[in-house]
Amino acid sequence: MRYTYCPHCGEKLGERELGDEGLVPWCTRCQRPVWEAFTTAIIAAVINDENEIALLRQTRISANTYVCVSGIMKPNESAEDAAVREIGEELGLAVKELRYMGSFPHKNGDMLMLGFCAVVEKAPLKLSRELDGAEWVPFDQALPLIREGSIAWRLTRASIALRRGV
Ligand SMILES: [Zn+2]
Repeated sequence: MRYTYCPHCGEKLGERELGDEGLVPWCTRCQRPVWEAFTTAIIAAVINDENEIALLRQTRISANTYVCVSGIMKPNESAEDAAVREIGEELGLAVKELRYMGSFPHKNGDMLMLGFCAVVEKAPLKLSRELDGAEWVPFDQALPLIREGSIAWRLTRASIALRRGV
């Protein structure tokens, strides 16, 4: 999101040349640049030792496709802590191993998703009330259930490849 007014003092923003950045939004009252804002979230492919992945259904987002665990980070929280927290909240699972898989800018530019592959013990899924369903899905059946090309799809594909050692 590009600001029109300074979020610190409310002054209407101008622009100013700033080194390699070129023209940037600038507050003349605060004497500082005001960068475009975006939200940081985590997304996690949750897998078990039996080559299955936990996929979630949220019918308010899509009736037919599945998604991965995701959530907005809180201030002062590490991305790793956010991933562990969201997996606990959404599925009731404890993380054994967590690996950072890369970052995924959302296409509208308002969000950056930090992707993880999380390994857990296989256990029944204890769903949060935000979810309409979740299930353990074998690796070879997972990708067709997720919207092709989506962040969840790319993260799942990369996480399965990592686990298979390819
Ligand atoms: Zn200002």
